[in-house]
Amino acid sequence: MSRHDDNRLREQIVTYGQSLFDRGLTMGSSGNISVRLDDGGWLMTPTNACLGRLDPARISRLDRDGGLIDGDKPTKESFLHMAMYAERPQSQAIVHLHSTHSVAVSCLPDIDTHDCIPPLTAYYVMRVGRLPLVPYHVPGDTALGDAVKGLAGRHSTVLLANHGPVVAGKSLEAAVYATEELEETAKLFLLLRGQNPRCLTPEQVAELEAKFPRD
Ligand SMILES: [Zn+2]
Repeated sequence: MSRHDDNRLREQIVTYGQSLFDRGLTMGSSGNISVRLDDGGWLMTPTNACLGRLDPARISRLDRDGGLIDGDKPTKESFLHMAMYAERPQSQAIVHLHSTHSVAVSCLPDIDTHDCIPPLTAYYVMRVGRLPLVPYHVPGDTALGDAVKGLAGRHSTVLLANHGPVVAGKSLEAAVYATEELEETAKLFLLLRGQNPRCLTPEQVAELEAKFPRD
């Protein structure tokens, strides 16, 4: 990892963090972003940092074992990121938000916990696919990491009950786009509840999955 690449990734994290914050997808100091580095380590947003006002120089840089090399202490939810990366060598970035509509879906009593949102649109199928619900855990409970790990091999995105989504992508851009697609589809799902919407058929979903395989 050259210094140039490292700086470029830091700037990307700052830019996407501010964009997500400015559009109300994350609030206060909630939400966190990480990117995998070529040396096996990570860049991660710091604990108690607001994604709308990140300082590139203070972003946490971690070694391949998750130890802090420099920058501020990483987010207390770093174990969520580590759990996803451990099962997804193909993923280069992770976004975790407490985005309102996705959290709303995660609180509903009667959703399918193996697939929380039906296939309403093609882009949702292409960017998110099947979305499992991870049972509720108190913040900081590392058992949540184990629960995420159990699903991460098969799913690039999981929804933490009464908490929010964790979204992996082959680049930071891809992870951000998938997070946005999930949030907008969660909004659609809530708008359409009780209206028996016409979803994509299993054949239409299979066609998309064959044509546009997700990483
Ligand atoms: Zn969280």
